[in-house]
Amino acid sequence: MLHRLQGTLTSRISWQFSIAYGVLAFLVNYYALIPLYGNLSIHLGQIIVVVCLITRGEKSALVALFLSSLGLYFSTNSFPLVALTIAELLVLMLLFRKGVLLIIADMVFWAVIGIPVTLVTLLFAYDINSTDFTQVILIKQALNGLLNVSIATMFRAFIPFIWYCPQINIKPPKLSKRIFELCLISIAIPSLIVMFVLSDSSADKLERQLLEELDIRAEHLRERAENYQLFHRRAVESLADALREKQSSGSEQELMNRWIERYPGFISMILTDHQGVVTRGVPNQSFGKLLQKPPNERKVSDRDYFKVARDTGQPYVSNVFRGRGFGSDPIIAVSVPIIKGDKFHGIVEGSLNLPKFETIDSLGGRSSLLVVDASEQVIYGSRKLELTPLDQVSIEENEQSYANSIKSLILDDDEVYNYKRIETSNGWRIYILSPFDELLVEYRNSFYALLIGIMVLSLIASRVAHKFSHHITRPLERLVTFFSSHKPVPKKPASYFSSQEIETVRSQLQEAQRVMIDFQDQLKAKVESKTEELIVLNAELEKLSSHDPLTGLLNRRGFEQVVDSVYPLACRNQSKVTLAIMDLDLFKDVNDKYGHSAGDACLVAVGGAIQEVLQRDSDYVGRFGGEEFIALIIGDSVERHFQLLESVRRKVEDSVVGYESERINLTISIGAYSLNNRFDMSYDTLLCKADKLLYESKEHGRNRMTSKSQ
Ligand code: GH3
Ligand code: MG
Ligand code: MG
Repeated sequence: MLHRLQGTLTSRISWQFSIAYGVLAFLVNYYALIPLYGNLSIHLGQIIVVVCLITRGEKSALVALFLSSLGLYFSTNSFPLVALTIAELLVLMLLFRKGVLLIIADMVFWAVIGIPVTLVTLLFAYDINSTDFTQVILIKQALNGLLNVSIATMFRAFIPFIWYCPQINIKPPKLSKRIFELCLISIAIPSLIVMFVLSDSSADKLERQLLEELDIRAEHLRERAENYQLFHRRAVESLADALREKQSSGSEQELMNRWIERYPGFISMILTDHQGVVTRGVPNQSFGKLLQKPPNERKVSDRDYFKVARDTGQPYVSNVFRGRGFGSDPIIAVSVPIIKGDKFHGIVEGSLNLPKFETIDSLGGRSSLLVVDASEQVIYGSRKLELTPLDQVSIEENEQSYANSIKSLILDDDEVYNYKRIETSNGWRIYILSPFDELLVEYRNSFYALLIGIMVLSLIASRVAHKFSHHITRPLERLVTFFSSHKPVPKKPASYFSSQEIETVRSQLQEAQRVMIDFQDQLKAKVESKTEELIVLNAELEKLSSHDPLTGLLNRRGFEQVVDSVYPLACRNQSKVTLAIMDLDLFKDVNDKYGHSAGDACLVAVGGAIQEVLQRDSDYVGRFGGEEFIALIIGDSVERHFQLLESVRRKVEDSVVGYESERINLTISIGAYSLNNRFDMSYDTLLCKADKLLYESKEHGRNRMTSKSQ
């Protein structure tokens, strides 16, 4: 019950943690976007999600990821970006579970999934016309991811252990991995931040420069175009003035010839009468034939340059149109009415040779000039634009701007340019066009440099970390090897790479080893002395188990052990054998009369007496139990055996046992059976026979020996 309650409590705390992480990530992603150049921004909410993954585990991280993704979606409105962020964390989770360092896992994600997938998404889902811009978005996103993971990894060092979910199994990585991670994040974080700041400000600066340049150029070109126009309008005006003065037709022709020579900007010039019939035209070679034609075929009265000049009485500059009759070049007509007094006498018109605009197109580098009239007909386009005068162009504002303030346009649904537009006084529009990607190239290059730099640095860092960790761990490993193989721990530092900490460990190991050896010596001495004691005790026990403590003779067990080994041998060798059982007579009375202790003293005395008689190596004496003794006599002759036993009987009979003031007399009865000729009797049978003979001795009045042999 308590266990279940604890479980519920832990899981509730876990939920609270994940939701707190998630809400924080949401807020950071929603409110704390760091804007970058070109409508890009850095999202730092992922840091919190990664921290949640590290400290609270996968389930919590998924909850936090959900909330942070919501924040990201509300702030960017970009579903692909959110999807990419989710994919990034899922891959991180998977690789992190396998023990891959987070920063490496992130690099793997971007290299294998992030960049290819984003590329495809951008190319298919978005109508982004510049591949450079696509690359910039992509690399920025990857760098953003790396920054997040690096910062989260850095935070990890500062997260109190208590914040970790108890279920999380923190398996420490190898030292080389730790050092590698440390090297990498300490390189990655500052370089990413510095690069973001630097590339952002340099791109912004570049944009401002470009904008300024476009402004200046536009203004300059407007001036030049207006001057060009004004210059030629003035030329026509001055021709009209001159023509008004002159009367003869010969001098008219001469004037016009002079004018067209003086102003090469004109492709042709004409003079009409008040009805719009061309009366003069230069150059002569173009107009020779035309002027031969009847007047109604030479009429330009339907043309704006005639009508407007006639109706307004003012000089007129036309839109672009294609000339007719005397050449079909695209032209701009500059016409001035000839008015004498109040009477309209006709117009003089100069057709501006459009390709001559090249003289004002002074833009170098990758910029182009486009001049269109009010109805978006091309007056002039730089060669790079591949436009010819009179082309109708569509100029459309580009919605997907990436720059901070420069606008971009799409020309003929195809090319995208940054531009600056300016209008001349007569409604012409001058566009200074700069290629869309010009700004991005540098921005993109700095991103690339950073990405490649980080990759290269991570390779170097991994080598350095490997070497470094090896140098750090080697002295330690060496110490441990010495310690565990019981070799003396060296007294001097192992190498240059040793450190104070390792030296402390070394001296502590040395001390531990000394204590251990002392302890082992003490233990050894103790074991040895205990072993000796045990041997003595064992011997005593052994003796106790085979000897009778009162008389010091073999007890029944000890006696039978001896018999087991010597009796069969004696039988095999056909040595003479006698087994005798000796029993004190009426011993109960002794006990009753003198006491048990006196009885004991008697037993000791009798035991001693028997031993004194049967003292050869081949005589075995034992206390058989109670006041019975037993003897096995081997070798010699049976007669000799009986003699010895008889001596025992006599000795007991003759001896007086003194106990305190008492003097006790004893006798003993003996039953003895001998193997004299046949040696095929078992010990038990022999014993039985001897016992029976003893019984006989008792029967026949005690203090005697009854013997038999076979
Ligand atoms: P018998 O001549 O028929 O052998 O008579 P007995 O009295 O010796 O025979 P019994 O077997 O009836 O008695 C043996 C006595 O020996 C009984 C017991 O009190 C005594 N006894 C046996 N072992 C010991 C001992 O270790 N110490 C003493 N003090 N007495 C013992
Ligand atoms: Mg007895
Ligand atoms: Mg007895």
